[in-house]
Amino acid sequence: MWNVAKIASEHGITLPERIQGIVDGRPCANPDDPYLMPAVCPATEEVYGHLEESGPEQVDAAVASARRSFDESDWPRLSHNERKKMILRARDALAANSDELAAIQAMEVGLPLAQAKGMHVPRSLENFEFFCEVAGTMAGETFNQTGAYLSIVTREPVGVAALIAPWNAPTVLSSMKLGAALALGNTAVLKGSEHTPLTIQRMVEILHEGGLPPGVVNLVNGRGPVTGEALVSHPGVDVIGFIGGTATGKRIMASAAQNVTKVGLELGGKSANIVLESADLESAVDGSLLAILSGNGEQCLAGSRLLVQRSIADEFLDQFVQRMANVRVGDPFDSATEIGPLAFADHYAKVLSYVDVAKEDGAEILCGGGPHPGFDKGYFFQPTAALVDSNQARVCQEEIFGPFVAIQVFDTLDDAIAIANDSEFGLVGYVWSNDLDAVMQVSREVRTGTMWVNTPLTRDLRAPFGGYKSSGLGRDGLQSSVELFTEEKTTMIPTGPLTLPKIGMGSSK
Ligand code: NAD
Repeated sequence: MWNVAKIASEHGITLPERIQGIVDGRPCANPDDPYLMPAVCPATEEVYGHLEESGPEQVDAAVASARRSFDESDWPRLSHNERKKMILRARDALAANSDELAAIQAMEVGLPLAQAKGMHVPRSLENFEFFCEVAGTMAGETFNQTGAYLSIVTREPVGVAALIAPWNAPTVLSSMKLGAALALGNTAVLKGSEHTPLTIQRMVEILHEGGLPPGVVNLVNGRGPVTGEALVSHPGVDVIGFIGGTATGKRIMASAAQNVTKVGLELGGKSANIVLESADLESAVDGSLLAILSGNGEQCLAGSRLLVQRSIADEFLDQFVQRMANVRVGDPFDSATEIGPLAFADHYAKVLSYVDVAKEDGAEILCGGGPHPGFDKGYFFQPTAALVDSNQARVCQEEIFGPFVAIQVFDTLDDAIAIANDSEFGLVGYVWSNDLDAVMQVSREVRTGTMWVNTPLTRDLRAPFGGYKSSGLGRDGLQSSVELFTEEKTTMIPTGPLTLPKIGMGSSK
């Protein structure tokens, strides 16, 4: 395996000793003996730098900067075209540095470079473009039914947006929130995950190199309970856009309540992938593998509960398990690699621990079930399939967030729907079938924000994406992002002269 210095020199990555926040367009150091968190490469376990945690003072400075930019600078007052030009120039700078951004994500998260380059960075660029288009077509409403008045409803930016992203797809997810917030005229304080400090720092630096005015996007880097908590409880924040785990989302909602801060939550999932006997078997196998293994299996929308109808279970599972056992796990910089290492040591330990959890619940491990052989360093995990006989097994109820699928066999369509709904989550679902009535019944009755029919993982940025139940609050998408990042204002104007009742005309004694 390579070392980090070699990768950095080949891909033009500068490795700073300390990875800091960015406030007013400049690095924001924490001079008060900050917590220094080692940034570790998951493929080699090398320390490639240290995150210098932003404490409450740096968070305060970041919010103050975003506040000034919102209250005093041109940013929210620019015409749509002017703001769009600036955002697209910054987006062009990201495009010009896309190889570097992809390589940092491969190094920092363990994402296969081909996926980081071919999907993550292009999607991140598209997020900025898409929300510029959305902002350009946003329209208000008028009502004239009262006769005497015209009521005009317009939308305005909310103000300072605190945007918090997880580590599994750092540029895709932070640009999703950032693109929408900025295009709609807000300013932002971004907090990426403490596990991807360099990706996010470099992304925000490049946005500034591309001409984004200082103060419009500020960055704080640090752990959730320290930096994140200081940010979401800050009274200068007007809206919180959060993507991460459900437990964190609940804490953030409680903090937001203290200041009645608007909040949108994109949270975890444990999505059912239903394969019916009427499915095209080949595409169901292909799609089910992609559903659990894309992005190293570290995806909120993973099809992590595979439900297979009994009449086709043997045939389907023979093919599925054989292919899963053949998946190429390895160096994220090797173009042949299909799965890289898991992103960090604690997460690797957590995913590994679910092998014993599954066995304790009586599961049969059909493939995988341990560290991937052939590596003496790095967090390489064998893609794992566990056959369970009850949806109450912990591997069916808890989000593992790795290449680990829990498989159940069911008899009837109603059984599959009941199992799919027997979950605290409701993010996405998958169904494989050529029986239109069955497909429509699954779509109607499974309580999830998205249902994919005979396809895995397709997104349309225009369509809402988000979860039912504990998978979230609100949606990302065309209308939904506008709702999160704008306030509605009603202005009422009389349509003609008004005869107002005159009060205070009597003589006072
Ligand atoms: P996490 O909840 O641990 O952390 C997410 C972010 O929140 C990080 O930046 C973290 O530092 C911050 N954070 C943690 N505690 C905080 C607090 N008390 N206050 C403020 N911020 C805090 O999640 P993770 O491990 O980074 O990511 C994995 C999770 O994200 C999974 O549950 C996954 O399903 C979910 N996810 C959801 C979506 C979606 O669109 N629904 C997309 C990707 C990931």
